[in-house]
Amino acid sequence: MADNLLCDLCGLKIGAQVWTLRLPTQEIRFCCEGCKGIYQMLNNFDGTEPPPVSGATSSEGEK
Ligand SMILES: [Zn+2]
Repeated sequence: MADNLLCDLCGLKIGAQVWTLRLPTQEIRFCCEGCKGIYQMLNNFDGTEPPPVSGATSSEGEK
């Protein structure tokens, strides 16, 4: 089992998959790629491709 990691964006508990964002001063952890992307957008990080701006919402993966 992982530690009690909490997403730095939404505050949810992080599961097996941890998304990390390395900053010069610290390392931030997220529960999903979406949270990481949002954080990057909010802080204007450009380490990866910016997500396309559209009305697309993730509707898959739900069961
Ligand atoms: Zn999150």
